[in-house]
Amino acid sequence: MSKKVLIVGGVAGGASAAARLRRLDEDAEIILFERGEYISFANCGLPYYVGGVITDRDNLLVQTVEGMKNRFNIDIRVKSEVTKIDREKKEVEVITDGKSYRESYDYLILSPGAAPFVPPIKGIDKTTFYTLRNMEDVDKIKARVVENKPKRAVVVGGGYVGVEMAENLRELDIDVTLVEAAEQIMGPLDIEMARILEKQLLDNGIKLILNDAVDSLEEEQKIVVSLKSGKKLESDILILAIGVRPENKLAKECGLAIGERGGIKVNEYMETSDPSIYAVGDAIEVKDFITGMDTLIPLAGPANKQGRIAADNISGRKVKYNGTQGTSIIKVFDLTGASTGNNEKMLKKSGIPYLKSYTHSGSHAGYYPGAFPMTIKLLFSPEDGKILGAQAVGRDGVDKRIDVIATAIRQGLTVYDLEELELAYAPPYSSAKDPVNMAGYTASNILKGDMKVIHWDEIDRINKQEYFILDVRTDLEYETGYIEGSTNIPLDKLRDRLNEIPKNKKILVYCKIGLRGYIAYRILFQNGYDVYNLSGGYDIYLSANYKHGEGISMNDEMTKVEKVEKKNEKQMKTIKVDACGLQCPGPIMKVYKEINNINSGDILEVHVTDPAFTNDIKAWCSRTGNTLLGSEKTCCDYVVYIKKGLDGESKNSCCIPSSTANVELPQGKTMVVFSGDLDKAIASFIIANGAAAMGRPVTMFFTFWGLNILRKDVAPKVNKNLIERMFGFMMPRGSRKLGLSKMNMAGMGAKMIRGIMKKKNVSSLEELIEQALQNGVKIVACSMSMDVMGIKREELIDGVEIGGVGAYLGEAEQSNVNLFI
Ligand SMILES: Cc1cc2nc3c(=O)[nH]c(=O)nc-3n(C[C@H](O)[C@H](O)[C@H](O)COP(=O)(O)OP(=O)(O)OC[C@H]3O[C@@H](n4cnc5c(N)ncnc54)[C@H](O)[C@@H]3O)c2cc1C
Repeated sequence: MSKKVLIVGGVAGGASAAARLRRLDEDAEIILFERGEYISFANCGLPYYVGGVITDRDNLLVQTVEGMKNRFNIDIRVKSEVTKIDREKKEVEVITDGKSYRESYDYLILSPGAAPFVPPIKGIDKTTFYTLRNMEDVDKIKARVVENKPKRAVVVGGGYVGVEMAENLRELDIDVTLVEAAEQIMGPLDIEMARILEKQLLDNGIKLILNDAVDSLEEEQKIVVSLKSGKKLESDILILAIGVRPENKLAKECGLAIGERGGIKVNEYMETSDPSIYAVGDAIEVKDFITGMDTLIPLAGPANKQGRIAADNISGRKVKYNGTQGTSIIKVFDLTGASTGNNEKMLKKSGIPYLKSYTHSGSHAGYYPGAFPMTIKLLFSPEDGKILGAQAVGRDGVDKRIDVIATAIRQGLTVYDLEELELAYAPPYSSAKDPVNMAGYTASNILKGDMKVIHWDEIDRINKQEYFILDVRTDLEYETGYIEGSTNIPLDKLRDRLNEIPKNKKILVYCKIGLRGYIAYRILFQNGYDVYNLSGGYDIYLSANYKHGEGISMNDEMTKVEKVEKKNEKQMKTIKVDACGLQCPGPIMKVYKEINNINSGDILEVHVTDPAFTNDIKAWCSRTGNTLLGSEKTCCDYVVYIKKGLDGESKNSCCIPSSTANVELPQGKTMVVFSGDLDKAIASFIIANGAAAMGRPVTMFFTFWGLNILRKDVAPKVNKNLIERMFGFMMPRGSRKLGLSKMNMAGMGAKMIRGIMKKKNVSSLEELIEQALQNGVKIVACSMSMDVMGIKREELIDGVEIGGVGAYLGEAEQSNVNLFI
């Protein structure tokens, strides 16, 4: 006799179970109840529909009711809520369109998922807020975003959904604040790994508040979110993404066993405490694959697998579910964070002994363009090296590395096995020693005792009297920052300077990422020292000690990105121009060339990676009689749309200044300040201030050595590569360090000139700069030179704009005096 199987919930677990059941049993009567209007939609894609990455709503509907009915011959009943389970009669009660009926079953599969948690915050009942779980939710958020065009958003909760929503709202140019009650975002990661992603949020203009929770809510014209700290945030839209709770009501009410964490209890065959009822997905408690303990892990992969296993077992196969690892991944703008197995917090909590290692490897061979560093944290057993968990953060290739390690965990492999894995390699994809191999080498060095390590979180606790802290980076690197109390002896000089290292102390050696530290370790160890290497090096130490608020959104400051409005788009031909990777003025040159080849009214869609270009192109368009339609930032580049000719003008537009462009006689003064000499700098500011005093618009364009005039005396710490640091180290830091072009006499001349100027009551260079800014002189730092010389925005004095050659030329064309100093 054929079985009658009812399924509650028509998305990940439910739909998967229904399809598998039909594939195994053509005769079974299968009825699927779904409370909402849709089945099998892509919950995981919802945030990207809000942000406009997924443009077509229909693409979220992975399977339609019709489609599934036709293919699998399943009786699908949407807008039908199962409200009761009568286990004695083996019937469920269903409400649809306000009417209730009963349906009998031989087997019942519960996959009702988990509902967003909404805490009883004061004022929440009078405040408009959104949670995100299904199509109905996303439609509401999308409508609000499209119709009300919110300028400010508060997202509460720094888990996967909260971070994805924050990013997607930010992509819509909304001013987003993310509030997280814990000390870090992204709970599956440990704090030092999460910090890398937190910085990424800050760098992309998201305001991040940690260690603070929502206290109360109010709404009148705007929403006011009051935090426990007393801080108040004003917002136009509020998203709550505080976590989810298993939907256990049905199961609870019919007396099925419920676990301590609120999930439905099941055995390894997905059977509940009633053998006729199976349960899968976010609603159940699963066994943690590492600890074997009951836990809640709401993820799509496990839900799908469990649905399939429940169907297998109902069809007479004996298939086990062996636990959940929690393998998960998230995109945070250009970065990716991923994890599998247990993190350090979980291992500590469960009392499981562990060791850890950190490695920073390139995503692929460093000599092949586009390699980005990837940090991998590996947790493993001190007994046999069995892998207990891993986390990775980087830009490219994080997914494949975490998946390889996830597979290794599933198979019970050890860090020694990671060393041996033979993984695909060619320069664009990996290195001969893949980051996973590198993680294995480092971990096994620790395990075998070839390298004793100290971790970032132990440094503050060690007795500093007992240790000699040795920094083996170059002196240039050391100059950019170091661990308090450390002594710098670069690795290559270590053998010659061993006499400077005390024998009666433990040696804590560190470098940038741990590799040179390991080499130094081996030298010192073999010379009889008691050595420890700082695992993961200074980079992990810095990341863990990263102070929030230091993130500066360089790109956003440099580019006021506007949303595109392409009018009458259909009638126009659009030509794509790829200027990615080119530095200013490369992109402008390419635009110039391409625009000559197209007809008036056609559009150039220019893709660039130089953020200053979006500013430059404004000036270029206005001077050349072309129309800047708008620009946008995508995940990997900036896209600028330019229509050939002016709006409303159909013919005769070209790339030389149009007759319709500014016809007034130019009055401005422009200066290219190329020199970094004190006397020339003084002269240029005196001229600029004079012109400004006459009411003339003045633009000073600082390029190459001239940029040193604009550097702050005391620069904040910024991330630089070795060459950039070398430049920074060799060049004068700020106006006070400039020398004279002649008779400098190792700085004596500069000092004398300053003295004489003071005596004669002439303003100092610093005062002249201050006056210029007050007089409205536009001070522009050349983005291309900054990039070449490794000078960062944060190192420049306040009030300086960043621009490219296009911005300067636009101003120069409005001027009747143009000086090169
Ligand atoms: C915004 C968002 C992003 C996500 N991103 C990811 C991701 O990137 N990766 C990942 O692994 N996971 C992600 N998840 C989690 C993933 O979607 C869930 O783990 C998965 O959908 C769980 O499947 P499920 O079948 O248990 O529950 P669901 O897919 O939630 O389906 C349960 C369904 O049951 C219905 N239902 C409940 N009670 C009843 C009832 N009594 N009668 C009838 N119907 C009922 C509900 O309406 C619901 O549609 C995301 C979730 C969300 C919300």
